[in-house]
Amino acid sequence: MGTSIIRVGLGKDLHPLVPGRPFLLGGVALLSDRGEWGHSDGDVLTHAVIDAILGAAGLGDIGELFPPSEAAWKDADSMELLRIAFGLVKAGGWRLINLDCVVTCESPKILPYRDRIQASLARVLEIPGTAVFVKGKTNEGFGPVGTGQAVEALVVGLLERIVPQETSPGDRINP
Ligand code: MG
Repeated sequence: MGTSIIRVGLGKDLHPLVPGRPFLLGGVALLSDRGEWGHSDGDVLTHAVIDAILGAAGLGDIGELFPPSEAAWKDADSMELLRIAFGLVKAGGWRLINLDCVVTCESPKILPYRDRIQASLARVLEIPGTAVFVKGKTNEGFGPVGTGQAVEALVVGLLERIVPQETSPGDRINP
């Protein structure tokens, strides 16, 4: 028996789109003549997911955990960064309940890839595919996203932690 603590986290990221790079979302490569520029592989959605779960667990943010100044993260596989970040979240006693995600870009269309992206994230985060939802939007031609120069991702994630009843919840929320 215990008390359930629920925490929401918000993640946001944006990457420029340039020729000659893969267009990655949640570890899935989309067919596109441009892809995300970045120090790592540039997977904008996975970066926003990492910030959402780290934020909900109070464990900092992606820039603190994987500083772009460190050569180790050059061209890093963002799904591997997610595995590391989720490992820290789990070590804090948290489990993920669900993610809701919005990816905004003019092209390619997200819908044909949606199920694969959801399944790819769900596999790493140890939740059913139905607990991850990804919506594709456009920016209606406005701004750098609307003119195809960038892709943006927004993610909310909900974490749950069970605190044993004999322990004061206040002592356990922030170890
Ligand atoms: Mg990023």
